[in-house]
Amino acid sequence: MAAPSSVNVAATGELTVPDVRERFGRWLGEHADTLAPFTELPTDVEGVFATLSRLQRLLYEAGWIRLGWPEELGGLGGTVALRGVVSEELAAAGYPPPFSFGTQEVLGPAVARFAPPELSSQALPRLLRGEETWCQGFSEPGAGSDLGSLRMRAVDEGDHWRVNGEKVWTSWAQYADRCLLLTRTGTPESAHRGITALFVDMDTPGITVRPLVAMTGEADFCSLFFDDVMVPKDRTVGEVDGGWAVAMFILSCERGVAAWQRQAWMRWRLGTLVADAPELSDARTGEAFELVHALRLLSRRTLRSLSDGEPLGVRPSFDKLLMSTAEKYLFDAALEAMPDTLLFGDDDPARDWRNDYLYSRASSIYGGAAEIQRNIIAEHVLGLPRE
Ligand SMILES: Cc1cc2nc3c(=O)[nH]c(=O)nc-3n(C[C@H](O)[C@H](O)[C@H](O)COP(=O)(O)OP(=O)(O)OC[C@H]3O[C@@H](n4cnc5c(N)ncnc54)[C@H](O)[C@@H]3O)c2cc1C
Repeated sequence: MAAPSSVNVAATGELTVPDVRERFGRWLGEHADTLAPFTELPTDVEGVFATLSRLQRLLYEAGWIRLGWPEELGGLGGTVALRGVVSEELAAAGYPPPFSFGTQEVLGPAVARFAPPELSSQALPRLLRGEETWCQGFSEPGAGSDLGSLRMRAVDEGDHWRVNGEKVWTSWAQYADRCLLLTRTGTPESAHRGITALFVDMDTPGITVRPLVAMTGEADFCSLFFDDVMVPKDRTVGEVDGGWAVAMFILSCERGVAAWQRQAWMRWRLGTLVADAPELSDARTGEAFELVHALRLLSRRTLRSLSDGEPLGVRPSFDKLLMSTAEKYLFDAALEAMPDTLLFGDDDPARDWRNDYLYSRASSIYGGAAEIQRNIIAEHVLGLPRE
């Protein structure tokens, strides 16, 4: 497929949010024919991956996906808000987020902020161009919500770390080129104080990836086994024993900017629900709209704070909680309005509805379970006691 002619977004000087909204919207309209194949995705993960990587490449070559990233890291400069507009306009026009959009917004900012400059300037452009994908190696059997108890060990061997242990629920690790890995470098009792983040090539000898089939029928995530994996010291992200700061930053991105992208997608999905299910009650439609819109307002505030470089505090916990509430409500409404389609349909739209319904169940688990967000809000906002 020919790439759409490049829009020289860099030559326009300082772009504002309304500029990008208008110009990107126009560009999407002008390239609707080229982009049409991306409105209908294959139903298998592998096909989706390949298709969305192509979409990512097109958007990169036209410059859009580089907005809001520093120039020294392959971007075109400007604030985080520009990234938010691009993802929102893309969703509003009915296109899916390119595959690494989620990774970009979750792991990209941490690599930009915490990795040594030689590493981030080499790795981030490759992510933006869609040349590689990354995965997030945090959770372990026995260390999910209680991340501070993780056990994967990294032992100092001079110019390398020797890594041993296991990770689980690592999304799309079977396709990933790199992993942002949390390891224990302190004593077993050091909890969150003895964790170090490493950026690991997934083809390093000693790594075994075992895909896990989810209830969607697809291997959405994997178990990872590390057996004497040697990781060069220059792949350390952040301070040695300072990985907790990296992890918390990543989780705030996952609960913050990634929630913005999700709400953009949910707004579009609500439109398709109304179109596909005319019998959907007004009350259901209204409430789903309210929830998605409330998420949009909350998430927009987070995006603005990020753009202004303000600390986020506990705000991403509100965003994440509302995101999972809205997403579950939306797909509960879909199931109620189209039970036959969701349960028994076997054409592509029916499979999409079913997959999205099933995946929506996970929205209150990944990125930090809903109960954990409630705990954070209870302790830090309401001042309730920890126990
Ligand atoms: C679709 C999906 C994709 C994922 N992708 C990734 C990934 O790419 N990388 C990665 O590292 N992980 C990933 N995860 C894992 C995810 O981060 C964990 O599932 C999550 O942190 C919860 O941990 P857990 O599964 O160990 O459950 P647990 O922590 O064992 O929790 C079980 C239940 O107990 C509740 N609970 C636990 N502690 C408390 C408490 N203190 N107070 C109240 N309730 C509590 C939880 O809310 C939950 O309901 C993914 C998960 C899903 C579902």
